[in-house]
Amino acid sequence: MGSTWDYGPLGVELKRNVKEAWWRAVVVERDDVVGLDAAILMHPRVWEASGHVENFSDPLVECRQCHHRFREDQLETNRCPECNGELTEPRRFNLMFRTFMGPVEDSGSEIYLRPETAQGIFVNFQNVQTATRKKLPFGIGQIGKAFRNEITPGNFTFRTREFEQMEVEFFVEPGSDEDWLQRWVQDRFNWYVGYGIRAENLRLREHASDELAHYAKATFDIEYRFPWGWGELEGIANRADFDLGRHTEFSGQDLSYFDDATRERYLPYVIEPSGGVDRATLAFFGSTATTKNRTATIPEPSCTCIARWLR
Ligand SMILES: [Zn+2]
Repeated sequence: MGSTWDYGPLGVELKRNVKEAWWRAVVVERDDVVGLDAAILMHPRVWEASGHVENFSDPLVECRQCHHRFREDQLETNRCPECNGELTEPRRFNLMFRTFMGPVEDSGSEIYLRPETAQGIFVNFQNVQTATRKKLPFGIGQIGKAFRNEITPGNFTFRTREFEQMEVEFFVEPGSDEDWLQRWVQDRFNWYVGYGIRAENLRLREHASDELAHYAKATFDIEYRFPWGWGELEGIANRADFDLGRHTEFSGQDLSYFDDATRERYLPYVIEPSGGVDRATLAFFGSTATTKNRTATIPEPSCTCIARWLR
């Protein structure tokens, strides 16, 4: 079915190396990031708060002739790419996998497999901050499985329905968010180059305003030149106060942060570097970089706004 893959004896070693290198660079070696391992199954209200129940869907169309299904936003024409048949009207298809918690299968026990690891971090933000006594800015990092019922999985392990993410939610004071976004983009870009991916096979791409996710104020993708073209390895998003604001609203629990130094209380902004473990593994696997390339300089970025501060 091409939507889930198993890693064999060599593949699992490579994948573990990728995760360990990420964990070391992003959690262990930074004193402003701590780790977390949250559950895959969460309270269904979490996904209402996150906006996934409402917004996490793709426009699905079906060919009336061959019955193949496609994402309307990925098609170049309004005919079937397989047989040129007529397509149905698009309908919104939610990408979350549903299952039931406990022995009774009714709507009251319906839950979701998490479509991202991020929400496990947001709902634990206050616990972690209180327990570790971290002051802002600080982040929480996590590696774990996520599940999306993609309409069209493909390109080997690039787009699969079960995959692994390595994510940081980095909490900052509003106003410092744009600066922190830039620092994280730079850090994460350098990480890929540092581990041997040739810089000419990497590029930065800023999301256009109509492409931004429902939570994002700005997003940069680090893309890799895969055999089939450029594809996202990691997205670094400025989520502003969307997440903590929504969880405050839905849970009734105040998730604001009190800054001892300034005696001010505010809702932290969030910078999120979110990478795909399987995609990074595939890129490292396919990379023919030599040690010599590890000092490669960062190439001209693909947009001018980021060029300013990369120099
Ligand atoms: Zn067709």
